[in-house]
Amino acid sequence: MPIESFNPHTGRVLRRFKAFSWVKTERILAQAHRAAAEWRTITFAHRAGILRRAAALLRARQDELARLMALEMGKPVTDGRAEALKCATCCDFYAERAEGFLADELIETDAGRSFISYQPLGVVLAIMPWNFPLWQVVRFAAPALMAGNVGLLKHASNVPQCALALEKIFHDAGLPPACFRTLLIGTDQVEKLLADDRVRAATLTGSEGAGASVGALAGQHIKKMVLELGGSDPFIVLADADVALAAKTAAQSRMINSGQSCIAAKRFIVEKPVLKDFLNQLKTHLLAFRPGDPLDPATQYGPLARPDLADELTQQVEDSVAQGAKVELHGGQAKPGTALFRPMILSNVKPGQRAYSEEFFGPVALVLEAKNADDAVRLANDSRFGLGAAVWTQNAKKGEAMARQIESGAVFVNGLVKSMPELPFGGVKKSGYGRELSYLGIREFVNQKSVWIG
Ligand code: NAP
Repeated sequence: MPIESFNPHTGRVLRRFKAFSWVKTERILAQAHRAAAEWRTITFAHRAGILRRAAALLRARQDELARLMALEMGKPVTDGRAEALKCATCCDFYAERAEGFLADELIETDAGRSFISYQPLGVVLAIMPWNFPLWQVVRFAAPALMAGNVGLLKHASNVPQCALALEKIFHDAGLPPACFRTLLIGTDQVEKLLADDRVRAATLTGSEGAGASVGALAGQHIKKMVLELGGSDPFIVLADADVALAAKTAAQSRMINSGQSCIAAKRFIVEKPVLKDFLNQLKTHLLAFRPGDPLDPATQYGPLARPDLADELTQQVEDSVAQGAKVELHGGQAKPGTALFRPMILSNVKPGQRAYSEEFFGPVALVLEAKNADDAVRLANDSRFGLGAAVWTQNAKKGEAMARQIESGAVFVNGLVKSMPELPFGGVKKSGYGRELSYLGIREFVNQKSVWIG
C-alpha cells in the first residue's frame, strides 16, 4: 500500500509520503532502544506530567485533529473531536492511576518478604488500523509510556498525517522524542523489526489476516504480543426487551464510524415475537442518519475510509443475497469505486451465507431470528469471533446469566457496547488475545517479576 493521504469524500490524493528506508528505521530503533534505558528510570510523577500535557494538547488541538481524520479517512468532524477528547481522558486516566496499577504486590510465601514487581520491557512496536486513528494508538501508548516502555508506531498507510500529528503531540508535551516515534513504513519492514532483539514486544489492532501473520512472526521470535482483531458482535433482543430503546441503540451501534468499528453491533439476533417491530424501528432509525461531507459538523456519517472497502462490502452483500439473505433496507454504494455506503439491512441470515460467518466492516445490519433465549445464545456463539456482545431484556437476572454464557471479551446488558479506560478491552477466539485499558492493559507490556527475599 502506498503511504498516502487520500480523501475518500472527494476521491483526491492529498499528500504522498516516501517510506522510510530500513537504514532510517534502524536508526530510529537504535535511538528508541537507548531512550528506553533512560525512560525506565524516570519517576511516575514525571511521566504523568508529560501525559497530562499530552491530554491538554489533545483537547487544545481537537479541531485540527478532527479535520485531519475527516480528510484522511472520512470521519465526521463531530466524531473526530469526540475521539480526541476520549484520548485525552485516557492519558489523564493512566497519568493518575499507573503508579497504583504497577505498585509492588506483596505475596505471602516462605520468604521473609516476597512480592511481584512490574517492570518495563523496553521498545514496543505498535501496528495500528485507520478506523480510530488516534484512539487505537493512545489506548496503547498512554499505558505503555506510563509503564516506562517506549513506543514505535507503524500506523495504517492511509493515515500518515494523523500518525505524525500524534507523534508531535507527545513530543510537544515534553516526551523525549525517541520515546515515541512514527515510522512511515510499509508492512515489509515489520518482519525485520520483529526479528530485532531490541524490539521486546508488539501489539496489533487490525484484521484477522494481519493478526495471524504478525502473530506468527512474533511467535517465531518469541515476542510478547497483544492482538486486537475483528468482530461480528451479536446484539440480542429478547421478547421482553424495551424494543424502542433497543432499536435506537442498535442503529447507533451499527453506524459508529460509518459502520467501521470492531465493536459495532453487526449481527442482530431477535426473538420472533418482536422481530417485525424491531426491524421496522431499526429501518426508521437507520434512514434518519444524515450522510455528507465529513468536514460539515451536521454530517452524521461519511464515506467509508477507502473506495475499495466499499467495493468489498458490496461484494459481501451481493454474495449473501445470492446465498438467500433478504434485503430489508436498500442502500449501499451508488456505483463501484465510490466510498459512500448507505445503511442496509439484510434479514433471513442463515449458515452458509457470507453474512452469517464474516465480519461486515460497514453499515450493513445482519438480522437473525431466534426461537428463544437459549437459541439466541447459541447463534451468538456460532461465530469465529468473540469481541463484544449486547443483550436486551427487561429481566436483569436473565441478562446477566446470558452475559456469562456468551463467548466474548465484553457483554453489555441493555447498553451500547463501548470502550472506556476503566474496563479491560479485548477478545476471544479469532478476535484476538490480550487486553488493553484498565489495570490489565498496563500489565501486558511489563515483566511481572517475582522477588523472593529470605
Ligand atoms: P488491516 O488491514 O489488518 O491493517 C491494520 C494494520 O496492520 C495496518 O497498519 C496495516 O498496514 C497492518 N498490516 C496489515 N497486514 C499486515 C502484515 N501482513 N504484516 C504487518 N502489518 C500488516 O486492518 P484495517 O483494515 O486497517 O482495520 C480493520 C480491521 O481491524 C477490522 O477487522 C476491525 O474489526 C479490526 N479492528 C479491531 C479492533 C479491536 O480492538 N479488536 C479495533 C479496530 C479495528 P497497512 O495499512 O500498511 O496495510
